[in-house]
Amino acid sequence: MAKKEFKAESKRLLEMMINSIYTQREIFLRELISNASDAIDKIYYKALADDALVFNKEDYFIKVTADKDSRTLTISDTGIGMTQEELENNLGIIANSGSFAFKKDNESKDGHNIIGQFGVGFYSAFMVADDVTVISKALGSDQAYKWESQGADGYTIEPFEKDAVGTEIILKIKENSEEDNYDEFLEDYRLKSIIKKYSDFIRFPIKMDITGS
Ligand code: ADP
Ligand code: MG
Repeated sequence: MAKKEFKAESKRLLEMMINSIYTQREIFLRELISNASDAIDKIYYKALADDALVFNKEDYFIKVTADKDSRTLTISDTGIGMTQEELENNLGIIANSGSFAFKKDNESKDGHNIIGQFGVGFYSAFMVADDVTVISKALGSDQAYKWESQGADGYTIEPFEKDAVGTEIILKIKENSEEDNYDEFLEDYRLKSIIKKYSDFIRFPIKMDITGS
């Protein structure tokens, strides 16, 4: 399948993420959980305005699943999902993100500060993962799609199977190197503490499931 290229500014942000420093990496989880929560909010507000759509509280949650054997960390939600077009537009073009507007105004400043202090969004996944897969089915849509990228050289999109509406973000966690430990992002205690630190205020349940050794 042909790879599609990221826009130039997305590429720059991606490079910044890939070369991020150790202390900043943990915020990727805050960003992905906040996107999951936004996606559930979108269904919630839609249901308020649309009598045909009922929001059953117990059906809406975020799930963080780690599998140490396959080195995958999955953040899934039962939110509004994305169509093929939305996957292209929202994940392929960073300028859509409100946080990038800030970055543009501060181009001369050290990028690292921006990573630490402000929302850098979806691309922060590349701080801890060398492959990011997004499987999503939009509300009102019959077909799900899979978006996948290994970083700055582009992404692919193809039709995929998914029963429920919502989104699954699958991170293939980087291998440890001499200086860098990524294993911790598959550890129960570490994930819990990151969630407690940054996502305590999220108003939907965050479930966890850790497997493998
Ligand atoms: P921001 O959240 O500031 O808009 P992000 O880079 O975090 O920027 O996300 C970009 C866009 O991708 C979001 O605005 C949203 O439209 C879409 N998106 C990301 N994650 C999800 C998700 N889990 N469910 C639905 N849409 C999502
Ligand atoms: Mg976001």
